[in-house]
Amino acid sequence: MILLKKSSQLSEQVLRLQTAGLKTGFVPTMGALHNGHLSLLKASKQNNDITVCSIFVNPTQFNNASDFKKYPVTLENDILVLEQAGTDILFLPGVHEIYPNGTTQSQPYGLGYLESSLEGKYRPGHFQGVCQVMNRLLDIVQPHQLYMGRKDYQQCMVVKKLLHIMRSDTILNTCPTQREPDGLAMSSRNMRLNAEERKNAVTIFNVLQLLKNTLQPGCLDDAITTGKQMLEQNHFTVDYVAITDATTLEPVTHWDGSQALIVLIAAFMHEVRLIDNMIITGP
Ligand code: AMP
Repeated sequence: MILLKKSSQLSEQVLRLQTAGLKTGFVPTMGALHNGHLSLLKASKQNNDITVCSIFVNPTQFNNASDFKKYPVTLENDILVLEQAGTDILFLPGVHEIYPNGTTQSQPYGLGYLESSLEGKYRPGHFQGVCQVMNRLLDIVQPHQLYMGRKDYQQCMVVKKLLHIMRSDTILNTCPTQREPDGLAMSSRNMRLNAEERKNAVTIFNVLQLLKNTLQPGCLDDAITTGKQMLEQNHFTVDYVAITDATTLEPVTHWDGSQALIVLIAAFMHEVRLIDNMIITGP
């Protein structure tokens, strides 16, 4: 595995490989790698000649300073894991490499409804930061294929929109959520949970499962109330439990059972904010 810290080095390297006809897959991450990240790398390796992974904890997508400061860093282990996974290039930039002219944005990206709902609403500025870093990374790597996880469902939609806005040829592949044996979605933030919090954290998965298995047309509001109560009883502070259209993320009030829905949850286990989601295709 080649480790590069400079954007110019990475651009040169991938351009050389791409000119030689090699297909590039790209997996952007913030490190503290787990099997969720590894599933993206595996998908990239299966479908491309070269796999590039980046580790960059992007300051502009954190709307909470303490969340940024406490974001887990496990670089030595990440490098080992990436090498074992057969990653070809690891890009490890500093803030100045990504934002040589500073982090101030010249113009906001037009994300519309995605920006004011769910994660956009509860984390103001978050998706602008995601677009800022993704636009820069895509500009440096120019990948044929991009791999992202459906655990961050709304983020996948935002990046799809960004690719459209930028008229990019990069193809976005969204990969299924990898879970711990009890169902908790893998997340770098899980490392911040103590044993008791970790035990309670599985409630998010339990609520998603319950709603998926029991949701009936006409009783969406009751299901949301039940979900919130279960989370609160297990020491969560809830940002939202939402049931929306799976393709648009628009709210659904009347469901006849035919439209694909998605249940999305964001909740704090004390200081640690966790998100997860599950698609519901029918009653
Ligand atoms: P992060 O390092 O949290 O920014 O995540 C980097 C990429 O890994 C994003 O595309 C995430 O959606 C994806 N990812 C994070 N957790 C999981 C998971 N449990 N399963 C699949 N993909 C994931």
